[in-house]
Amino acid sequence: MSRYNGPVCKLCRREGQKLFLKGAKCYTEKCPVDRRTYPPGQHGPAQARRRKQSEYALQLREKQKVKRIYGLHEQQFRNLFERAATQPGVTGANLLLNLEVRLDNIAFRLGFAASRAQARQLVRHRHVEVNGRIVDVPSFRVRVGDEVAVRSRDRDMATVQQSLEARTRVSVPEWLALDEKNRVGRVVRMPERQDIALAVQEQLIVELYSK
Ligand code: SF4
Repeated sequence: MSRYNGPVCKLCRREGQKLFLKGAKCYTEKCPVDRRTYPPGQHGPAQARRRKQSEYALQLREKQKVKRIYGLHEQQFRNLFERAATQPGVTGANLLLNLEVRLDNIAFRLGFAASRAQARQLVRHRHVEVNGRIVDVPSFRVRVGDEVAVRSRDRDMATVQQSLEARTRVSVPEWLALDEKNRVGRVVRMPERQDIALAVQEQLIVELYSK
């Protein structure tokens, strides 16, 4: 299945909230979610007027929201959920933690890319190393102690430079450490649910997939 290449702001409008899919740009550009408070498309305004959403619709929207934030396909997301369900602890929180430790997300969190989509491209195009070796798989699971760096010859790339400069509004989370000068980050510890500042009710996703 191909990846969605349309305007990402439509995805935010569909979910009725800012998903920050353009990363730092979302803080500087006029956000369509503020200007048009109804879903995109011809029937968007009518949908917004419709009465209360069903329980299923709420669960589905929550799942779509998280899937879109991290830019995953349905099957990839489902597979991560299956993995989370077999891990000890709370399945919903496990799901988010599994999403956080993906290499593309960590490259984004460290500020090497302006958005997760750009981070995925950075990884795919072989600009990112883990422990000194190039890894071009965005879903690669990074572990505690791993070093994630921009490949040495690409450290002055304009996109990386610009992303790091624009990072001022999005700080590096506490579970990561960044050596900005050398474009090297390290996973200090595994993230916990409270480290993930997403307004998401992951329990709804668990309920959806448990039907
Ligand atoms: Fe979403 Fe950012 Fe577009 Fe606003 S500007 S709709 S937050 S992608």
